Amino acid sequence: MRIEIDREACISVASCVAIAPNTFELDDKGIAVIKNLKGEDEKIILQAAQSCPVNAIIIYDDAGQQIHPPKK
Ligand code: SF4
Repeated sequence: MRIEIDREACISVASCVAIAPNTFELDDKGIAVIKNLKGEDEKIILQAAQSCPVNAIIIYDDAGQQIHPPKK
């Protein structure tokens, strides 16, 4: 699994941090960063990504396919 954060899109809601506090944190600008790629179970990390109101967390599977947000 690979995680990307679109830092331009992040609006500092921090719901990702609330759901996966060992994986995401806010930097000193209040923008999400990855703290530890393996901080939480993949299911929790996916839930955190789904909680982001602006879809700023992009998740890819090991084959490089985008899992979240779902492609239209
Ligand atoms: S939930 Fe989305 S907008 Fe909120 S801090 Fe995390 S990445 Fe940023």
